[in-house]
Amino acid sequence: MVKHALSVTRDADFAAWYQAVITEADLAEESGVRGCMVIRPWGYGIWERIQRLLDDRIKATGHENCYFPLFIPLSYFEQEAAHVEGFAKEMAVVTHHRLVADGKGGLVPDPAAKLEEPLVVRPTSETVIGHAFARWVQSWRDLPVLINQWANVVRWEMRTRMFLRTSEFLWQEGHTAHASADEARAETLRMLEVYRSFAEDDLAVPVVAGEKPENERFPGAVETWSIEAMMQDGKALQAGTSHFLGSNFARAQNIRFQNASGELEHAQTTSWGVSTRMIGAVIMVHGDDDGLRVPPKIAPWQVVIMPMLRDVPEDEALVAYCRELQQALAAQTALGEPVRALLDLKPVKAATKRWSWVKKGAPVVIEVGGRDMAAGNVSVIRRDRLYRQDGKLDSVATPRDGLAVGALLEEVQRTLRNEATERLKANIRPVSDFAEVESHFAEGAKAPGWLEVQWARPTGAALDKVVERLKALKLTLRNAPAGQAAADGACIFTGEPAVERVLVGRAY
Ligand code: AMP
Repeated sequence: MVKHALSVTRDADFAAWYQAVITEADLAEESGVRGCMVIRPWGYGIWERIQRLLDDRIKATGHENCYFPLFIPLSYFEQEAAHVEGFAKEMAVVTHHRLVADGKGGLVPDPAAKLEEPLVVRPTSETVIGHAFARWVQSWRDLPVLINQWANVVRWEMRTRMFLRTSEFLWQEGHTAHASADEARAETLRMLEVYRSFAEDDLAVPVVAGEKPENERFPGAVETWSIEAMMQDGKALQAGTSHFLGSNFARAQNIRFQNASGELEHAQTTSWGVSTRMIGAVIMVHGDDDGLRVPPKIAPWQVVIMPMLRDVPEDEALVAYCRELQQALAAQTALGEPVRALLDLKPVKAATKRWSWVKKGAPVVIEVGGRDMAAGNVSVIRRDRLYRQDGKLDSVATPRDGLAVGALLEEVQRTLRNEATERLKANIRPVSDFAEVESHFAEGAKAPGWLEVQWARPTGAALDKVVERLKALKLTLRNAPAGQAAADGACIFTGEPAVERVLVGRAY
């Protein structure tokens, strides 16, 4: 039997395993403020790769970056009723700008330094960016406005979990304004597609892109679209959202323009975001019982070179040999970029170092000992498939000069994606009546996956009833996949003719 690097397996306790990966892979730790985390260099390095790759895609679709303030006047929120209602219960508010001694050795907010208007720590920036749009947009010639910002936001979440749902998180938020509803809807779907291809091509995380039902809409949106990813325990994770806001925010914030015939019209706006939650998705899609497996595209270091140092004079030649190897690898390309190779010279025992990189999930670890050097070899360990059939570590001796690490990294990226894609496909099942939904989730399967059901897309109170019925089974509506075939059955909730297929599952 293979002994694994983590003390808890996915099978034994998925939630504890997730936490163990975060700790053992040095991704993040608690901060002392509930729901706020310290992101350590390996976790932040992955975030920087995510930023880089997604930022390129955002810019390639014509958007520019800018920056808006962290503080938003409370009155800005009050202008859009649904929006403020949706966010009121999780907003952090700044009310004072100075502290004074309380006479007992502590400090308290100074009553004389109370702000005239409370400031909200941004939970999202539609309101403040809308104010800028109202200034920037006068005529149809000013449209479209296509901007994005990378920032932190604060939502005072009650049930927090590292990366997946934190009170402060890092994200990008795109905001756009258009002259017509058609154009704004097209933008909403264009960015949904950017998220889909980013998740699949860069994170190796297959997703289902589709429209959220009415009850899951972003507060103030006309339509909300999402990409949903399946974790290894079969639960869904909403990995990104793109909202068509119609003229709701434009009306609230007076974003108007003179059209070509000289009449005043409200602009049509969109917003879209993905966050550090993406790292949680990568962990729960690609991690195994030895820790994380980072897809090469987002690995801060794709190859780690470990000379097997023995504290002897010969070490010097070995280090020189490894340095040359590092340079040779950095001259290769993989997945369209120069290979990122680290020479790890930390004075740590070889086995400890090896397992530390395995737990972190570096895609390829190369070990070089004195004997390897003499033979012109290196030992290559692929993180995506760590063991041989007999359960021993699969460390393959390869001639150093012929080492095609670029091709190897591309294969690792492809393998991770294929594995996850097969899992997603195998775990979405169509069912045609509600009893099947009940029995499927009553069976207590470890990873029950998602069910695809046909429905009449009820609204209002009828939708609330559906949501309640599902909630009793701990289920939620995920999304109605985009580009699906026409519905041909009856609604499993009401028996009426169905209008579309929608996914149902447990979710984070
Ligand atoms: P929203 O503005 O609500 O559409 O959120 C945009 C995206 O940010 C969502 O699709 C999630 O992927 C992510 N997100 C929302 N809330 C949190 C949170 N508390 N922690 C981490 N990520 C979040």
